[in-house]
Amino acid sequence: MVNAISVLGCTGSIGRQTIAAAEHLGLRVAALTAQRKIDLLEEQARRLHPEFVAVYDEEAAKQFKAAVADTDIRVGSGMEGLLEAATLQSIDCVVTAVSGAVGLKPTLAAIDEKKRIALANKETLVCAGEIVMQRAKAQGAEIVPVDSEHSAIFQCLMGRKSGELHKILLTGSGGPFRGRAREELEDVTPEQAVHHPNWSMGAKISVDSATMMNKGLEFIEAMHLFGVTPDDITVVVHPQSVIHSMVELVDGTVIAQLGVPDMGLPIQLALTYPERCPSMFEHLDFYRLRDLSFEAPDFEKTPCLRLAMDCARRGGTAPCVMSAANEVAVHMFLRRELGYNRIYDAAAGAVEKLGVVLHPDLETILEADQAARAYVRETYRT
Ligand code: MG
Repeated sequence: MVNAISVLGCTGSIGRQTIAAAEHLGLRVAALTAQRKIDLLEEQARRLHPEFVAVYDEEAAKQFKAAVADTDIRVGSGMEGLLEAATLQSIDCVVTAVSGAVGLKPTLAAIDEKKRIALANKETLVCAGEIVMQRAKAQGAEIVPVDSEHSAIFQCLMGRKSGELHKILLTGSGGPFRGRAREELEDVTPEQAVHHPNWSMGAKISVDSATMMNKGLEFIEAMHLFGVTPDDITVVVHPQSVIHSMVELVDGTVIAQLGVPDMGLPIQLALTYPERCPSMFEHLDFYRLRDLSFEAPDFEKTPCLRLAMDCARRGGTAPCVMSAANEVAVHMFLRRELGYNRIYDAAAGAVEKLGVVLHPDLETILEADQAARAYVRETYRT
């Protein structure tokens, strides 16, 4: 179990739930970072008394510094601030709950300081999985996944030898538009897309769940986290989200992890691992559980999932380009500047247009990320 944590991205959905878990467990929150939501950040900072707070946006950082001038909280800004929050001497764990490629450098810096990474930032592994996992191995830093599916797989593999794993069964609910054809989704609104049947999440990831790009990003994440190939992972649609993922062992035994669909559970485990503590969440009631059902994904109806699995096979910068293009497209969709079905077009178009660099270094990855963003903004400008 960890003692003191730094929460990167503390005002987002995962960040707020991490703070709730830390307060429940009595952990010290020593550092916080946010992009620019300084009202909520100030409220959190006054309650938790962290030693350091970083605001990514320079202008917002100045405002925040003035707002907490009566406290002894140190305030930083920009990437430098994020790096300091990730490497603070007094912490032993960094929760990476920021959204986007901005999480990459702080995660690597924290790994170099041998901090535990409670990983909630998908882009880190999607874009730079090889680099991050190699660095963590070399430094002996633990990476404990926060994403519910990866936490489930992590839990199912606890105590297993690597040769015992036959297949990862990555489950997903299928989102709010499961079974609907692409033509029926042309006029989907942001309100409809963010309304997830089981999970309460931030807007971006909710749209990704609707397109199933989220499952595709998780597919790539799982490859890196568990050191497997695309052929070792099968996506299983499980609409009830009670099973959070499964592993099939070489003898045919399947081990599943079940629980109520609440991100608070995997967040807490990432902080208490390898121990377990009572949580504030409801427990499963098997007498009240309805059927658990399973089906194969329909790749015709979920082209984003198909694209992500294809990018996983292509490797190199393909997943990074796809993810960055998708991120920009989703934000444009949320601002009503882009139709729902154009999200796939933008992500696929960026991969097609920018091509793939194999075995990229960190700079090449960050350049590919920027190029993909520019491509979508330029091509779909309104
Ligand atoms: Mg997930």
